[in-house]
Amino acid sequence: MTIIIPKNVYLTVVAAAVRFANKKIPKEEWLEVNGVFIGEKKDDDILIKESYPIMHEKFDKDAVIDKYEWSEEDNVTYTLIDDEAFSRGLYTVGSWHSHPGFKVMLSHIDIRHLAFHQTANPSYFTLVFNPERLLRQVEMPDKKGDPEKPLKNDPGFKIFSLDDTSRGIEASYHTTDYVVEGYDNMEQLVNQTQKFIINVTNFFPKDKIFETYQTFVEEKLKKFRSLLLGTEEYLMTLVRKGESHRIPEVLNNQIHEIRKFVAETYIKIGNVKEFMDYLEYKERYTIIPQVNEIMSLWDEEVTNLDSKLAEISKKF
Ligand SMILES: [Zn+2]
Repeated sequence: MTIIIPKNVYLTVVAAAVRFANKKIPKEEWLEVNGVFIGEKKDDDILIKESYPIMHEKFDKDAVIDKYEWSEEDNVTYTLIDDEAFSRGLYTVGSWHSHPGFKVMLSHIDIRHLAFHQTANPSYFTLVFNPERLLRQVEMPDKKGDPEKPLKNDPGFKIFSLDDTSRGIEASYHTTDYVVEGYDNMEQLVNQTQKFIINVTNFFPKDKIFETYQTFVEEKLKKFRSLLLGTEEYLMTLVRKGESHRIPEVLNNQIHEIRKFVAETYIKIGNVKEFMDYLEYKERYTIIPQVNEIMSLWDEEVTNLDSKLAEISKKF
């Protein structure tokens, strides 16, 4: 059995995990996140179609590994996702969670979780991801102080299933083969995903998502307006100083600058729109409409860029 993981499914796990465990957050405050995979069986393989982040653990300085609990809302969320998948001929094929900064393995709690689900569905599996493992290409030791094991071209996760569910929490486990689709090779996957992690770290915060993007759009709009205004003022100065012959050249340069700024901002806005796919399910209904509204302010203003530039050139 091979687990087929599309690129966007993989990135959902990475983004959701990194959002709560990255270098902008003190290591003691890194939190585990978890979610489920929706998919189907295809011949001997499991084809994952979607990944849904469900929840992150609450901060507790004495927290034990994996000892978080789903709220009632999370249970309802899970039922919704599972029912909706079923109506499309899909089902919950497995689960995933993060081990932020610690070893990729199964805890007793993970084994109990697998024993429960794998008894009902023998092909059920769980994926464990550690962003540090991907970033630094090392496996963390079992015990503090032991050496780290160097890795090469490692995606930061392993997929596990139990050998014999009838043994319950005593069950031993094995890793399952997988393929991450959408990359030429593992080296490319690692390089691209390390860059993706930097993006997530800088621009996909765990809290105050809407406020972050609101400030971002407001700043970009301010800059955009001041670039347009600045161009006009610059050209007026040239006229005043009797250097009108320089106007075409200066105007060209200014237009080039403005277009570059708009293009760069579009890339960031594209990131924000992509990040909306990586939110926890329960966040989607509140955050996505708010973020879409603030992003549309940018779109509206910039749609008229050509006519704004034409207006300025006409004046001179
Ligand atoms: Zn675990």
